[in-house]
Amino acid sequence: MISPRRIICVAALLVMAMSPFAESSDSWIDRQVTGRFQMRSEVPILQSKVLSDFMQALPQHESDIAATLGLRVNQKPIVINVFQSRRSYQEFIARVAPDGKDRRALFIQSETHGSVYTYLHAEVMTDLRHETTHAILHSSLPFVPLWLDEGLAEYFEVARENRISGNPHLSRTKLDARLILTWRPNLTKLEAVRDQSAMTARNYRESWAWVHFLLHGPDAAHSTLTQYLGRVAAHDPPGPVSAQLHRIWASPERQLTSHIKSWK
Ligand SMILES: [Zn+2]
Repeated sequence: MISPRRIICVAALLVMAMSPFAESSDSWIDRQVTGRFQMRSEVPILQSKVLSDFMQALPQHESDIAATLGLRVNQKPIVINVFQSRRSYQEFIARVAPDGKDRRALFIQSETHGSVYTYLHAEVMTDLRHETTHAILHSSLPFVPLWLDEGLAEYFEVARENRISGNPHLSRTKLDARLILTWRPNLTKLEAVRDQSAMTARNYRESWAWVHFLLHGPDAAHSTLTQYLGRVAAHDPPGPVSAQLHRIWASPERQLTSHIKSWK
């Protein structure tokens, strides 16, 4: 089942839905600025451990993403809007992006800035890291393929110390990979999924697995990813990542499987 957090991240779809009041709420009682990030909240930020911890870790989160992917980040503003309750969030989102109102969090990219919306709930830290990852990627790149966008957001949504070996997707993907009859990773097929609503839980997991392989697999896998992103940033995208990998390996899927099975 797809988590209710899984949202429409293809920002362009939502840009048109933005109205002038989308960025204002009568109920913000606190604001905090860290670099290009601004948090607006319906609760006092310093009195919320999760919000203040998140804001404190945000510059590190951004520099980790930039360093890992070889991205050049810019100073385009990213606004993080935190509502005190699901009801308050839904009332607001219903006016700006009705499709997102049943989600736990939402990211919208406009021409001038990125906006993250969420409310206080048990997994808000994970959601904030996930959506802010989308915001950082979209502020640095003209586009991000859906599978890569979600795979990277899943990779960076866990606590920093758990990224490499402690993501819950790892144990589940290891289980998937043992089931020979149903384990059929296929990046070309994943690349063909262009609609967020068509992304299944398995698609999210497989996207995460490809990202993990590209980041921690053979050197050639990592350089394929950084070169791909560099070309996208330069508005000169090469063909799909699957095609780049097929130039190196006859079966990237076999490489992925052996990477996941052997990863500790
Ligand atoms: Zn996402």
